[in-house]
Amino acid sequence: MNLILFGPPAAGKGTQAKKLVAERGYIQLSTGDMLRAAVASGSELGNKVKSILESGALVSDEIVIALIDDQLNQNEGAAGFIYDGFPRTVGQAEALDELLKSRGTQVDCVIRLVVDEQALLTRVTKRFEEQGRKDDNPATFSVRLEKYNADTAPLVPIYAERGILREVDGMAAIDEVSSGIDAALKEAA
Ligand code: AMP
Repeated sequence: MNLILFGPPAAGKGTQAKKLVAERGYIQLSTGDMLRAAVASGSELGNKVKSILESGALVSDEIVIALIDDQLNQNEGAAGFIYDGFPRTVGQAEALDELLKSRGTQVDCVIRLVVDEQALLTRVTKRFEEQGRKDDNPATFSVRLEKYNADTAPLVPIYAERGILREVDGMAAIDEVSSGIDAALKEAA
């Protein structure tokens, strides 16, 4: 199973991905987590992307595609993969198709968490206070939201056309969102 959890920043993708990992044994591939780990470790990659992450802009397609490729190699034979925060551009989506094709698989399901942008701002302000993620501050978050609308939202019609897009109300309570995802996955199977 190759599942893309799709939606703007702070839509709840990470929370739902972690539930799927616990319940189904899938592997979560969060490019945001990978990049933050690189920054925290002070690696060459981390130093290269630190200021980009802090600004809310996107790092290059090349960097995130290489991270995903590497993870797919390291986790060969896994029950499933959840792509969280990837792909974020048309170029990344095309690269993912190629990476999967070369392994004899494909994107099976794209679940879009549908959320209200104003409510997201409230949600992320709370997360900023609780977790202190620098890029959750309201000004940077607006940049992230703009990037989502400009670069990532255009993927919606592409996956819809393929018939693999499912929509789930991301504003519902966490367990209700999970039930919606389970139902969407059953439909996709
Ligand atoms: P996230 O935790 O998914 O919101 O990602 C945090 C930040 O990491 C983003 O604001 C980007 O700067 C960077 N990032 C994460 N995933 C990607 C991606 N697929 N393409 C480009 N930049 C990314």
